[in-house]
Amino acid sequence: MSKRAFPFNSCAPLQLKTHVENKHVNNDEASMQKIYAKTQSILKAGAKAQSEKASAEENNVPSTNICENCKKTSKSVQLARCSFCDKTVCVYCFNVCYKCEQNFCPLCSVISYDDRVEKSYCLSCIGS
Ligand SMILES: [Zn+2]
Ligand SMILES: [Zn+2]
Ligand SMILES: [Zn+2]
Repeated sequence: MSKRAFPFNSCAPLQLKTHVENKHVNNDEASMQKIYAKTQSILKAGAKAQSEKASAEENNVPSTNICENCKKTSKSVQLARCSFCDKTVCVYCFNVCYKCEQNFCPLCSVISYDDRVEKSYCLSCIGS
């Protein structure tokens, strides 16, 4: 009885120890994987937020954000549509008609230097 019990008893602590060590290692790996996964998800979330922000900024810029007069594209420059020919021109190119106060591209407006003051008129107002 005691002879059969002895090897079992001598093995048991070893098995238990091995088992505990394995469990310990597994726990470490599991927690490392958790940390890794968490880090990855944080990185992914950050990248996602950045790409979402970037695409949102891109969406704010219309695809026609190009001045049809000077051909400049700018995200900061305000664009206006010519009331006469419907061209999109930047704030540096369009002229506001002195009479009707609408925006016109340089081709559809005439600059008058009467009274030494620069005045813009659209083609419909310049003759009237
Ligand atoms: Zn322009
Ligand atoms: Zn025009
Ligand atoms: Zn006008």
